[in-house]
Amino acid sequence: MKACLLESPASVEENPLRFTEVAAPEPGLGEVLVRVHACGVCRTDLHVVEGELPPRKSPVIPGHQVVGAVKRCGAQAARFSPGVRVGIAWLQSTDGVCEYCRSGRENLCADAAFTGYTVDGGYAEYVVAPETFVYPIPDGFSDMAAAPLLCAGIIGFRSLRVSGVEPGGALGLYGFGAAAHVAIQVARHRGVRVYAITRDQRHRDLALELGAVWAGSGSDEPPEKLDSAIIFAPAGELVVAALRVLKKGGTVALGGIYMSPIPQFDYSLLYGERVIRSVTNNTRRDGEDFLKIAAEIPIHTRVQEFPLPEANAALNALKHDAVRGAAVLRVSHG
Ligand SMILES: [Zn+2]
Ligand SMILES: [Zn+2]
Repeated sequence: MKACLLESPASVEENPLRFTEVAAPEPGLGEVLVRVHACGVCRTDLHVVEGELPPRKSPVIPGHQVVGAVKRCGAQAARFSPGVRVGIAWLQSTDGVCEYCRSGRENLCADAAFTGYTVDGGYAEYVVAPETFVYPIPDGFSDMAAAPLLCAGIIGFRSLRVSGVEPGGALGLYGFGAAAHVAIQVARHRGVRVYAITRDQRHRDLALELGAVWAGSGSDEPPEKLDSAIIFAPAGELVVAALRVLKKGGTVALGGIYMSPIPQFDYSLLYGERVIRSVTNNTRRDGEDFLKIAAEIPIHTRVQEFPLPEANAALNALKHDAVRGAAVLRVSHG
């Protein structure tokens, strides 16, 4: 099969992904083989490709927002019939037995596998995954529109949960990429006032188009104190910026897997029972709840399409804030 392979991490400007021919995977016990139609490009892929996340498998095929059709089922896999459209997300498997898995917090499992990082992902024509970690995709979404729901969407949704923002509340979104462009639609649906803070003018324009009441750049302060904030940009100084405009009792949720160091700040910014809380992976429950709500609202993703061999170009565009909404690789036509 054709795939984009990462042999050793490097700056994306050096185009480290190699478009090449590799052996297609075989579905093992309890697994499905999925023919990939589309795969979203996430900031986490950038951190894998550039090595901010230390390599766990090498070489590796990145990509963890996979939409495709079940091609074949492995032994004892009976949940899906061949041809059914499914999605594969970041959390590829867990041990199912640790204290986190047993308490509804499988996102924190110490023995989890991650698609496109510890196991091969969707920048390829085929991928395998355990059937119990695969999501049915609601009918209303095209393959391309559905791909960003699988990480940007689910993580944006979990970030909203963690932020604790209530209907009628004021929410700051710091960074306005793929996750924020979905999260704002869920927040607006719940009657939340959204303030977008992002360095790129095109991203501020998109935020306003999607219903933000205000959009500013990093140095601007929202005109209203915030009940909650979500930091999607991987810049530690934004945590302090958000604390400065956060009401007492408010939460700053950190939606990324990687962030530059958070600068030192005075305790007075945190005092008043303000909370800083990271968002780590997601549970299957988050994914199922989100896909249901996404279909109900319905969420409209803005997608910029790249062909599979152009994965390096997609990552470069993402790194340089040149993607409006979400970048998605078109792998095949379903
Ligand atoms: Zn576990
Ligand atoms: Zn992701």
